Amino acid sequence: MELLSGGLSLQKKLNILTDAAKYDVACTSSGSSRRGKKGHLGNTESCGICHSFASDGRCVSLLKILMSNECIYDCKYCLNRSSNECVRTTFTPDEICTLVVEFYRRNYIEGLFLSSGVVKNPTYTMELMYQAIFMLRNKYHFNGYIHVKAIPGASEELITKLGYVVDRMSVNIELPTTEGLKTLAPHKNPKTLVAPIKQIQQGIADHRLATGQDMKMIRHRGNRYLKNTIFDKNPYAVIEQQRMIQASKSALPASYDPAPFVPAGQSTQMIIGATPENDYQLLSTTQKLYQMYDLKRVFFSAYVPLNEDALLPSLGTAPPLLREHRLYQADWLLRYYGFQADELLSEEKPNFNIMLDPKCDWALRHLEHFPIEINQASYETLLRVPGIGTKSAFRIIKARRQGSLNFEHLKKMGIVLKRAKYFITCSGKMMYRIPIEEDFITRQLIGEDSKKSWEIGHPDSYKQLSLFDDFNFESSVTTEDSHKSMLGQL
Ligand code: SF4
Repeated sequence: MELLSGGLSLQKKLNILTDAAKYDVACTSSGSSRRGKKGHLGNTESCGICHSFASDGRCVSLLKILMSNECIYDCKYCLNRSSNECVRTTFTPDEICTLVVEFYRRNYIEGLFLSSGVVKNPTYTMELMYQAIFMLRNKYHFNGYIHVKAIPGASEELITKLGYVVDRMSVNIELPTTEGLKTLAPHKNPKTLVAPIKQIQQGIADHRLATGQDMKMIRHRGNRYLKNTIFDKNPYAVIEQQRMIQASKSALPASYDPAPFVPAGQSTQMIIGATPENDYQLLSTTQKLYQMYDLKRVFFSAYVPLNEDALLPSLGTAPPLLREHRLYQADWLLRYYGFQADELLSEEKPNFNIMLDPKCDWALRHLEHFPIEINQASYETLLRVPGIGTKSAFRIIKARRQGSLNFEHLKKMGIVLKRAKYFITCSGKMMYRIPIEEDFITRQLIGEDSKKSWEIGHPDSYKQLSLFDDFNFESSVTTEDSHKSMLGQL
């Protein structure tokens, strides 16, 4: 393969810059829908562009690369920090286009996830990224999913321009507290991190307003039965939004169709385990981010010790994968189950019992609410029962209109009785004679959950997947066998 500037081949650059990107976790289903067009390459599906996930939950079907692993900053937790000695390289915008188009044509990827170290300054770096994405969209007519990490400190104009050509943007919050940020990334300050998040939020809101979309329904994401979620904090603001939407709708011509701005929304990422913050601090920050900036997702990234530093966990410390998993479960409870961070945890009890899922953990500390009667409880109350999810709660509400439900009915509906049985009655009866007693139920539930917990938490099972593990790019892009070999790894 031809040697490019700096003496590195495209393959070598690709190896370096995919490897350097693997600790970024902020990619998931797109939520963005765009049909394929004649003469255009690719499409996105609202049900999710990222079909493949690694065993640790990371998505691998996007081409996930850095524009550059050069960086002027020195964040202590980062592999690409300026004080680390490693081969540094930067893609040109043309190279990014070549890779995306060639990989897409070979069916290896469905989209692009592009992040970068900071080359020269944030605006210079984002200009390079913008050029690459602009060419992909307008020269190569690439219509697939694109997720770009915005660089805090880049010009507002560039962030706006980028917002019109990508599907998703994200800005990493990095750590849940200002103190954590000061300790590990002293050049980053919360104001600079939040400024682009606010700008993107405003751009998305303006587009929704211009197209008359109902913000409240979008926020509930289909869970129309759930009241009092974390998104409903300010009812007056919601009413005002509705009023403005109606006003803007009636003022627009029917054919008005403005370009979408970051249609798949924005997300962010926090590192867990690099600093001593507890689960309560992490979850409270997560809740604030959802409430204040209308984020689509907050991602948690278990810290993988890569650098020797007195302020960080020592090399060889296992990444806190089980804790990461519990935080994702708790995040789900915030977004879809109507829980608040300060119900799940508190100053007095700031961490989850890692051996239990957070809903079981909450239920065991609130046994005064249980057992609940399946034939009478409201949708919101059913959602608080371990083993009952949003779909099964809905099924219960619907089915009991036809008559009383018993445990056999619940089993057929998919309720996880091995968890729910400790917390429910059907027509006043429990499934077995079970003492509603914290120690007893905790022992039973931990027994049920321990194998799965061990698999997630056991450090030997941890491996960050790389697109190119044992894969020879030059010799394989042309052969069918190699194609299968790569897909096999995905
Ligand atoms: S700015 Fe980003 S790439 Fe640079 S050292 Fe910090 S985390 Fe790493």
